[in-house]
Amino acid sequence: MTAIKYSLLLFTILTTFFTPSAYADYMEVTLLGTGTPKPSIERFGPATVVEVKGRYFIFDSGRGITMRLAQAGIHLSRIEHVFLTHLHSDHISGLSDLWLTSWIWQRPKKLELTGPTGVKALAKHLCLAHQADFTYRTKNTQLDPETYDIISRDIQSEGIVYDQDGITITAFLVNHHPVEPAYGYRIDNGEASVIISGDTTYSDNLIKHAEGVDLLIHEVAAAGTTLLAQNPRLQKVLSYHTTPEQAGRLFKHVQPKAAVFNHVLLFGVDEAAILETTRSAFNGELRMGYDLMRIGVGNNITFY
Ligand SMILES: [Zn+2]
Ligand SMILES: [Zn+2]
Repeated sequence: MTAIKYSLLLFTILTTFFTPSAYADYMEVTLLGTGTPKPSIERFGPATVVEVKGRYFIFDSGRGITMRLAQAGIHLSRIEHVFLTHLHSDHISGLSDLWLTSWIWQRPKKLELTGPTGVKALAKHLCLAHQADFTYRTKNTQLDPETYDIISRDIQSEGIVYDQDGITITAFLVNHHPVEPAYGYRIDNGEASVIISGDTTYSDNLIKHAEGVDLLIHEVAAAGTTLLAQNPRLQKVLSYHTTPEQAGRLFKHVQPKAAVFNHVLLFGVDEAAILETTRSAFNGELRMGYDLMRIGVGNNITFY
């Protein structure tokens, strides 16, 4: 065997068996959307995809999710399961696009949808709302009618909502009052673990469920002092989100290997100031998330 052939063979073996996703206790997280209801080309609506053992799990399905999945190189037909944190419109406005476009791209199974009370009704009404499209596409282009419907499930109480092949997903209550229930999710694959806070203010229950977590993806919101003092509506909005001061205290309790902000809701303050305030309480690894940020979670946390 020539030296070139030998190196090619070695390269193939190494890339086949030793790419990050081949590690047993490994997950790869891609932030698809780190925004809020505010339309922004930089920050699409809230959505995160977690790849574990070749499966793709979506958490929230905000505006533009299919575009970001395409940019991330994830084929829509690979999406198996969507988990919703709560039913605020910014977290679900991309759902019909994700569900229908993955059907058009020949998703082999029905989409599974899990979330708080109201998810079953949401799925039922989405299917009804898009009946005309169902008729056109099953008749004219022979799309599979079997894979159109959504398998939906309302979470009855916090606990494990997915448990297969060593992957567990746990829903736990967070505090987004008056939006109730609102859930955060913890994903475990062997030693590797990730938490997605969903929308919440400071939550003791999140701290309880975050013991030993590797990666904590958490929302953040802040407003300039004068702006806030003059605006009662803004005060209400901030009261059910997490300020950088609260985030710093929470991260200090949890001590994740890394914390990343998403759902970045800022009024008259900049991102650098948010990080600085949070770091005054928490001196661990902290990053401002951005759309298409990829994070490997295994023995170490790797930012790509
Ligand atoms: Zn939101
Ligand atoms: Zn919300």
